[in-house]
Amino acid sequence: MGALHEGHCALIKAARRLELQNPLKVLTSVFVNPLQFGPSEDFDKYPRSLNKDCELAKISGANAIWAPSVEDIFPGGNAKNFKILAPPNLQNRLCGINRPGHFDGVVTVVARLLSLVRPEVLVLGEKDWQQLVILRQLLTDLAIPVRIQAVPTQRDHDDIAWSSRNTYLSPNQRKDYQEVPKLLKQTGVLYKIKKNIDLPQLRYELQAKGLEVEYLEAIDPYTLEPTKLGNKLCLLATAVRSGKTRLIDHIFLMTRKPIVAIDGPAGAGKSTVTKNVAKRLGLIYLDTGAMYRGVTWMIQQNNIDPHNESEIKKAIKELRLELSITPSGDQKVMVNGSDVTNAIRTQDISKIVSTISSYHCVREALTNQQKQMGENGGLIAEGRDIGSIVFPKAELKVFLTASVEERAKRRAQDIEARGFGGESLDTIRMQIEERDRLDRTREISPLVKAEDAIEIVTDGMTIKEVEDSIIEVFQAKVPQEVWPSL
Ligand code: C5P
Repeated sequence: MGALHEGHCALIKAARRLELQNPLKVLTSVFVNPLQFGPSEDFDKYPRSLNKDCELAKISGANAIWAPSVEDIFPGGNAKNFKILAPPNLQNRLCGINRPGHFDGVVTVVARLLSLVRPEVLVLGEKDWQQLVILRQLLTDLAIPVRIQAVPTQRDHDDIAWSSRNTYLSPNQRKDYQEVPKLLKQTGVLYKIKKNIDLPQLRYELQAKGLEVEYLEAIDPYTLEPTKLGNKLCLLATAVRSGKTRLIDHIFLMTRKPIVAIDGPAGAGKSTVTKNVAKRLGLIYLDTGAMYRGVTWMIQQNNIDPHNESEIKKAIKELRLELSITPSGDQKVMVNGSDVTNAIRTQDISKIVSTISSYHCVREALTNQQKQMGENGGLIAEGRDIGSIVFPKAELKVFLTASVEERAKRRAQDIEARGFGGESLDTIRMQIEERDRLDRTREISPLVKAEDAIEIVTDGMTIKEVEDSIIEVFQAKVPQEVWPSL
């Protein structure tokens, strides 16, 4: 909208850091969009400072600034142009309630700007979270091939979120308004402990500072619907007036860091991809298949018949399974004091691991251990039942799959690379099919795609392409403000 400030500069700098397929050019658009203002709103007095905008855009790394006129964007005036309507379920909430038509104005102008510029990426701030959610939906629904890169809310020295409208505040009003970020921050900290918030009390405290609260709501950040507080990520959003100036702010509430669940059949590329994504996002990597393999190794070592469930039940009581991450990012597996990291990858283990992992006693022991490891979040786990059983509240669930032929080919290469060659491609394919059958049909925790999982079919994709698509959906599911590691 213009009147650039530190918040916009952060968007330009984030754009500058992007890795794109084409040579990177950063374009900053400045357009005070009349469609976004209601009849009694501040269109005429909205701050405009194009000369300063050019300076700031330049020092932040923009290659060009584009400040079209209203006539350029809406030739012939409002009445002569198509308008797009934002979906009512996203529009008729929060800011949309008191600003009818505002988001229609936003989506209409953004669709127009995008079709004129045709960028690869659209960089947007999380400060206007509802706008971000609606614009994501716009790109999805109209199949506009543009990726959104979100940037966390930028705050001034007194923690007030940067906004062009901050210039309306008198020094005293600004002082009163500081209560908003302060209370939001405190609430975020308390929520981690109490898993609850006291909305009426918060409202009262804001009003006690002379602020008029337009809304103060705890909602699901993606549907924008009221939500139950608890384990899931939640958005506490507010709009308040200090004097005549209306400002918005928010905080994400969460009781733990995000969790990513990657499930899928054998050979879909889960391990490599998950390990790399863990590194790129700074998440702890957990390969649960290795845990089932570790148990299988112990059963073999103790010469227990893999079909003798009661013996296995006894043996599992002695299991001490320790996982750690090596400096190169690999998972090290210790079973009862022995390093079995390599030993669990043999075909001998692969052949019986699905039988062992079908027993209730095995699943119970390992699932409990996995849940404990994920207690504080900040973890990406791969397996067969992560999204369905182990972490059903994971922020992101991905079901990674590929055709049997592709998976057999990859497994063969993997076995060869580990120095365990010898089996023909056909044998490996048959083993994979058998493992799929056992994993999908077992009674307890079968391999299934969780209802809310995103399926990625990896045939023909490179490892980097699969990683990039997971990171893209992670970004869309987990706000940068919560996980600013990208
Ligand atoms: O992923 P990987 O091939 O190492 O897994 C080995 C086996 O462990 C799978 O075929 C499956 O039988 C079992 N497993 C499971 N649940 C998980 C992970 C693996 O049953 N979460």
